[in-house]
Amino acid sequence: MELSAAELWSRIREGVREHLPPHAFSTWVSSVEAIALTADELVLEARNPFHVEWLEDKYLPLIERSCEGVLGRPLRIRVSCASPEDQTTLPALELGQPTDEAPDRPTGGPRRFSVPVGQPAEGQLAALFTRYTFERFVVGGNNQLAEAAARAVADKPGRMYNPLFLYGGVGLGKTHLMHAIGHALLETDPDRKVAYVSSEQFTNELVGAIRQGKTAEFRRRYRVMDLLLVDDVHFLQGKESTQEEFFHTFNALYDSQRQIVVTSDRPPQDMDGLEKRLISRFEWGLVVDLRPPDFETRMAILRKKADDEGLVLEDAVIECIAHACTSSVRELEGAVLKLLAVSSVWNQEITPDFARRVLALRRREQQPREPVASPDRIKECIAGSWRVRLEALASKTRTRNVTEARHVAMYAIREILGMPLSEIGGLFGGRDHSTVLYSIRKVEGRLEDDPGFRQRVEAAMSELRDADGPFHH
Ligand code: ADP
Ligand code: MG
Repeated sequence: MELSAAELWSRIREGVREHLPPHAFSTWVSSVEAIALTADELVLEARNPFHVEWLEDKYLPLIERSCEGVLGRPLRIRVSCASPEDQTTLPALELGQPTDEAPDRPTGGPRRFSVPVGQPAEGQLAALFTRYTFERFVVGGNNQLAEAAARAVADKPGRMYNPLFLYGGVGLGKTHLMHAIGHALLETDPDRKVAYVSSEQFTNELVGAIRQGKTAEFRRRYRVMDLLLVDDVHFLQGKESTQEEFFHTFNALYDSQRQIVVTSDRPPQDMDGLEKRLISRFEWGLVVDLRPPDFETRMAILRKKADDEGLVLEDAVIECIAHACTSSVRELEGAVLKLLAVSSVWNQEITPDFARRVLALRRREQQPREPVASPDRIKECIAGSWRVRLEALASKTRTRNVTEARHVAMYAIREILGMPLSEIGGLFGGRDHSTVLYSIRKVEGRLEDDPGFRQRVEAAMSELRDADGPFHH
């Protein structure tokens, strides 16, 4: 009897249904479609990469078993993705309007938790993001000095610290603080002229002005400001004519006691490709850094964000996010968004357990880009503990011990780095996706019923994980 892909899938699905709670079935399986069937492969399609991953991780063995039940023989099952872009990153859904802000703009504007960008007020060059105020800035040990300096500058512009130089890694609040100064100044005196400009924008405007012979106008616009906020000046590295222009703008403002605030990803003395005289100008004022938030501050930030957005997040969930995301405030916000997105796509409540699982997947998505334990390191470690030669892992050798080591190495790479199966295959002499999947399943099966084997694998895994950086607490 010939079955079409859809018919086969519908029978498999019925088999799967019997083994899953109704909620899980309707969330993860019922929407999956079969798109192709060949003699040795059934291709399923899930809605987005997240869904693909979840299916592969949690439900593939069940689907395979059900398939075998229908056909009387095993068949390779592959899950592909309906849409190339990651739909789970969509939902600015619940968070008001999306912004115009492109995510990768070097200004690092508020692409998350943000409202539309306000219009520039009369006499101002650039709009300030309405949400980047002192009220919404959570102070902790990591940013206390920077916040205090920013407040002092807003209080007495041009007098205390000029320029104020804020530096630190991505997503730590530099742009936020800078805008907060602008807001505070305008609150006390709406007639003040405030300009916010990214260094990239400054460069582009200058280049445009030069091309159109309007440099005089360009200068006039910037040199009448009471407060000039220049974001991400590391972008000026190596751009000599822009630096030259900026130097003159700086001097003009400084001489007439107008306030300048600049941000950068590193301290002035570490900026290669920046003129000495500009660096020394930066050092005239106050140089302060922002550091990644500690655990308490991360909790406080999350509580505040949830409050500000009218989100209800249990304390246990907040704690779970604060544990998982340690590098920056932007990462915290990203995690909250991911949770919201996934919970709304799957129509599922955000429980601590749900949060943990989503964040673990998110971590895996991110980890392969900067793995601390590399695939090579994992292969070496497993080859070592199984006492086989490293090259044997990628070879065709099928002795029992080598095969076992190979399977375990594939399993470990998948577990620790979350690499796609086909890429893992590439690391083992070009084995294909289904071979890798089969190997991993084999290991998983034995982990369940062979305690000696489990002990060996766990020992190797924990050795690898210990070398695996900040994600494991
Ligand atoms: P940077 O300019 O340093 O890359 P941003 O100022 O763009 O970082 O901050 C990234 C995101 O984190 C923004 O949405 C900002 O509102 C938020 N944020 C950063 N620090 C804090 C803080 N201390 N309290 C509240 N939100 C913060
Ligand atoms: Mg920024």
